[in-house]
Amino acid sequence: MTPAGRRASLDRAKGRLDRLALYPTPVRTSRVAMRVTPWLYRLPWFRRFDGYAAWNLILLRSEPRDAADDDLVTHELCHVWQMQHRPLAMPLSYLRSGYAANAYEAEARAAVAATR
Ligand SMILES: [Zn+2]
Repeated sequence: MTPAGRRASLDRAKGRLDRLALYPTPVRTSRVAMRVTPWLYRLPWFRRFDGYAAWNLILLRSEPRDAADDDLVTHELCHVWQMQHRPLAMPLSYLRSGYAANAYEAEARAAVAATR
């Protein structure tokens, strides 16, 4: 996928999240970068994931191609949105409550389902 294709994928995800009012201001995407880093997902911690968000960076296992990938990008962009409003509390919550029971995970999954 070209950089323009990735930007279009991010724009579609933002369009979905903009329909929700989870935070006081919409997600800002102008400085969000999306990279495809398959090597990352061979590491033990990352093996179970298909995408990962760290502040303004989204890392995907593979190029986004279809509707399922739009869901993945929307999920990861929701995490970016969360970190724009809770830059420390959100990442630290994974240390406190882990992954499966994490409220930010539930929120990102619900955001995808509500805008599908
Ligand atoms: Zn997630």
